[in-house]
Amino acid sequence: MNDLSPHPATSPLAHEVERRRTFAIISHPDAGKTTLTEKLLLFGGAIQLAGQVKAKADRRNTRSDWMSIERERGISVVTSVMTFEHGGLVFNLLDTPGHEDFSEDTYRTLTAVDSAVMVIDAAKGIEARTRKLFEVCRLRDIPIITFINKMDREGRDPFELLDEIEKTLALATVPMTWPIGRGRDFAGTYDFAARHVRLVDRDEDAVPMAADDVAGIARIAPRLDAAATAEELSLVQEACGDFNLRAFREGHLTPVFFGSAIKNFGVGDLLKGLGDHAPAPRDQAASSRVVHATEDRLSAFVFKIQANMDPNHRDRIAFARLCSGKLTRGMRVKLMRTGKSMSLNAPQFFFAQDRALAEEAYAGDVVGIPNHGALRIGDTLTENEDITFLGVPSFAPEILRRVRLPDAMKAKKLKDALQDLAEEGVVQSFRPRDGSPALVGVVGALQLDVLQNRLEAEYGLEIRFEPSEFALARWISAENRADLDKFVAANAFSIADDLDGDPVFMAKSAFDLRYRGEQAPAIRFADIKDVK
Ligand code: GDP
Repeated sequence: MNDLSPHPATSPLAHEVERRRTFAIISHPDAGKTTLTEKLLLFGGAIQLAGQVKAKADRRNTRSDWMSIERERGISVVTSVMTFEHGGLVFNLLDTPGHEDFSEDTYRTLTAVDSAVMVIDAAKGIEARTRKLFEVCRLRDIPIITFINKMDREGRDPFELLDEIEKTLALATVPMTWPIGRGRDFAGTYDFAARHVRLVDRDEDAVPMAADDVAGIARIAPRLDAAATAEELSLVQEACGDFNLRAFREGHLTPVFFGSAIKNFGVGDLLKGLGDHAPAPRDQAASSRVVHATEDRLSAFVFKIQANMDPNHRDRIAFARLCSGKLTRGMRVKLMRTGKSMSLNAPQFFFAQDRALAEEAYAGDVVGIPNHGALRIGDTLTENEDITFLGVPSFAPEILRRVRLPDAMKAKKLKDALQDLAEEGVVQSFRPRDGSPALVGVVGALQLDVLQNRLEAEYGLEIRFEPSEFALARWISAENRADLDKFVAANAFSIADDLDGDPVFMAKSAFDLRYRGEQAPAIRFADIKDVK
C-alpha cells in the first residue's frame, strides 16, 4: 500500500482494492497503442505470441456483418477491456477506439479508469488526438504516465519532447528513465531511481551503474561517446526534480518512460511504474455522497454497451465498472433507473483471447453483464442502496441527419431499432415533437456508416440519410418548470425528445441558437448531458 492510499487497511476489501490498476492508453493513431497493448498483455502471460491482439480482432470481425466497416477501413470500432495479472497486481486495461469518429466512446471509457498511459511517437511528439484525449483526462483529474515510443528509430531530441509536453499540456515532466544513444545507436535506458542500465537486445538483468560512470557506460555501449552520455545523464538527473507522487496523482506531473514497444523494450519499466505509482480504484462521486472503493456494498456503473457479435441474437453485453463492494456471481442488484432488481448470473471477465465467468470481482474491475436491453449507458447498479453515479456524459452531436425509410410499413420497427442502437451509444436518436421523421445525431461521420450497416444487417431496414434543416442540438432545462414549458410551446417545431424523453432544442445555426437563447434567458442550453 503506498503512502497516498485513501483506503483504510482495516477494511476487509482493502487488499483486493489496493492491488487493482484500471487504466486506458491514450494516443494519436499510429503512435503504437496496439503494439504496446500486446506487449503489456505478454507480461501478464495473457497471450503467448505478440500479434495476437490484432489477429484475434480480425477473426472476430469475420463473424459479424456490421463489423465489416471496421475490416474495410482497418480501424478499431469497439472498445473492450483486457484484464491481466502481473507481480501480484490486477491490471484492467480499457481499450479505446483509435478513430476519432468514435471519440464519444473513448470519452465514456475514460470515465471508468483511474489512470492513463499517454503514448507518444518519439518522432512526432504531441499530436492532435493525444492532446484532445489528454484534455478529457485532465477534466476528470486522471493521472497520466507518459511512454515515449519508437526510440529504436530516429526521433526528436528527448529534451525537446519533454519541453513540448510541459508547454503544450501544461504538465510537469519527470523522466523515470533516459535513453542512452538515439535511433540506430539506441543502446538502452538508464533508470534514475534504480540506478541501473537496461540494454536493448539483451535478456540479462539490468546492469547497476552510477549515472556518471563513464567507464561503465563505455563498457556497455562501446559505440557511444561515453563521457558525453555520462554528462547528459548527470545533467538530466540534476535538472529534472524528483518524482512527486502527490503532484502526479493530482494531475500536475507526468512520469516519463522511454522505450520501444515493438522491441518490447521499456514496457516492463512502464508496467512497474503503473504498479508503483498509478492509483488504486478511487472514490467515485454519486448523487448523494462519495462512494469509497472499500465499502462493503457493491456499486457499479455502465459505461459501454456492446451488441452481441451474433446478429441473430439481440443480446448485449453491458460493461460495468465496479466502484465499491464485492461482486459475487448470482447476486441480486438494483438497477437504479428502473428500481428493479436483477440477478448477475453470468458476469464476465475479458482477457486477450478469452472471456470467463466472473465468480467474484472488486472495485476497479470491469465486468461484462449479458442482458437483453435492460441496461443502458450511464446506469447505476447497487446492492440495494439509492445512489446514482454521475458523469457518464452524452455530447451534443456535431452532425444531424434525418432518417428516411422508403418502406413506410416498417416505421415501428425503425423506431425500436433506433431506440436499441441509441441505448447502445451507437448514435443519439431524437424524436421531433412535430412528428417528422426521426433525427439521428453523431459526433463523427463514421458512426452514421455503422448505424446504416447495422440497421440493414441486424434489423433488415434499408434507410437513407437526408440532410436536416437543423445543425445543432442542445439539451434544455430551466429552474422553473413553467419557463421550460413556455419555451417548448413557443418553439414546437424545433423540439425533440432524446432517448430518455428529455427535451432537446434543435437550432438551424449557431446564430439561431444564440438568438433564441437571448430571447429566453431562463432557459439553459447544454452541450453535454451527464447521464443519470
Ligand atoms: P496504433 O495505431 O497506435 O495502435 O499503432 P500500432 O501499434 O498499430 O503501430 C503503428 C505502427 O508503428 C506499426 O507499423 C507498428 O509496427 C509501428 N510501431 C509500433 N511501435 C513501434 C516501435 O517501438 N518502434 C518502431 N520502429 N515501430 C513501432
